[in-house]
Amino acid sequence: MRTLVLNAGYEPLGVVSFRRALVLVMNDKAKIVESDEDAPVWASSGAYERPSVILLTRYVKVPSSRQVPVSRRGVLRRDNQRCAYCGKNATTIDHIQPRSRGGKDTWENLVACCLRCNNLKSDKTLAEMGWSLRSQPRMPHHAGWFVRGVEKAQPEWEGYLQPAA
Ligand SMILES: [Zn+2]
Repeated sequence: MRTLVLNAGYEPLGVVSFRRALVLVMNDKAKIVESDEDAPVWASSGAYERPSVILLTRYVKVPSSRQVPVSRRGVLRRDNQRCAYCGKNATTIDHIQPRSRGGKDTWENLVACCLRCNNLKSDKTLAEMGWSLRSQPRMPHHAGWFVRGVEKAQPEWEGYLQPAA
């Protein structure tokens, strides 16, 4: 069981074990905002709610220039599993500038892609296909992307990891 830690401004900061989270709460460094009431934690001093999301009482400074490492899963997540070319459900990723022609593994050169478009495009460029991108791919910037461990997000975390609409 893990706990999502939010900065005092509600930005996601990291994931810790629920025991670590409880220590923060007991030391008044954080308070519980979401908990699993069906599974209390037993300690020598009694039962505690099992925290699934905690909020730090003090604001922690986070460097703003952190790089997000590119990954296949990350590209699919950034693009909401939608194909960058046709908008259908994407199950793979595509190099906009093909790797065989010098295309790099970067956030700017990788997009989510459906198998059909991936096969059609093969190692051609967009110009050769006469295709265009539905949006320009970029490195994601929302704080939720910096949190390690959110790949295995728990349902209670959902509302805290998405950027405000
Ligand atoms: Zn497609």
